[in-house]
Amino acid sequence: MPPDLTDTLVIGISSRALFDLERENKIFEQEGLDAYARYQTDNESRVLEPGTAFALVEAFLKLNEKLGEHLVEVVIMSQNNPQTGLRVMNSIDFYNLGITRAAFSGGQSLGPYLEAYCVDLYLSKNPEDVQEAVDHGIAAAQLYAPPEAFNPEADEIRIAFDGDAVLFSEESEIIYKQQGLDAFLEHEKIFADLPLPEGPFGRVLKTLSRIKSLSAEPLVRIALVTARDRPAHERVILTLRSWGVTVDEAYFLGGLSKNQVLKAFNAHIFFDDQDKHAGPASEHVPSARVPYRTTSELFDKDAPGPDSRNQE
Ligand SMILES: [Mg+2]
Repeated sequence: MPPDLTDTLVIGISSRALFDLERENKIFEQEGLDAYARYQTDNESRVLEPGTAFALVEAFLKLNEKLGEHLVEVVIMSQNNPQTGLRVMNSIDFYNLGITRAAFSGGQSLGPYLEAYCVDLYLSKNPEDVQEAVDHGIAAAQLYAPPEAFNPEADEIRIAFDGDAVLFSEESEIIYKQQGLDAFLEHEKIFADLPLPEGPFGRVLKTLSRIKSLSAEPLVRIALVTARDRPAHERVILTLRSWGVTVDEAYFLGGLSKNQVLKAFNAHIFFDDQDKHAGPASEHVPSARVPYRTTSELFDKDAPGPDSRNQE
């Protein structure tokens, strides 16, 4: 019988998100697949350095051990072929990461495979793969380069989410963008009692909240970091209440920059739909941008993101 993953948080992660493969990626981009394959085989026994999502993955796998339950499943989702993927698997062994499932698609797009592996959360550095996952309705985000100095909490996983267009739907964000702040505030006041619809990461928050409730010990700490402020905060609080989830911390910043709050919170990862928030935060904590669906009114294929920053 196949394993039942309904109550498990399944994280699909690209090899470049887990390990630092930037040099290797450059060889691939500049010299082609053959040169890349040769390099990877020649260096098969050289252990890869941690990448942007390494600390998060390591912390989640430790959580499984602590609770003695398989609550989080991490799957490597890579466009490598099985040959070039061997170096990644060797590095997983070296760091003793409890990752058993892997998909090496040999250059094929990964979108159709995410559903086959029941992926709930997909993290990658490849914008096309992330966009495809988002368009398939999967919570997905493109990672920025890792922060230079990051010292994660050892005993607790800390995850920070933006509100609009991440935990919540983009409905209010569209009003803000198209009609301005006053119209947004008016709208939020009128609908304060009506819970916000679930956004792309709503289900991930609900699953994390369930995992949190399994232990009296504080193992997972969740922060909401939003540009909303009073009076637009009320609808957020009532929405979370209606979902039956609690967050440990909430920051209503009203336009103040988010990066200092994230630095203080010391998130293992921060998710935001806008580069203007996630980009500066990525200098302090691992961060990722959540793109809009291609059918969204907010979709802009030229919107700045991790790639534009990494090229600076
Ligand atoms: Mg937002």
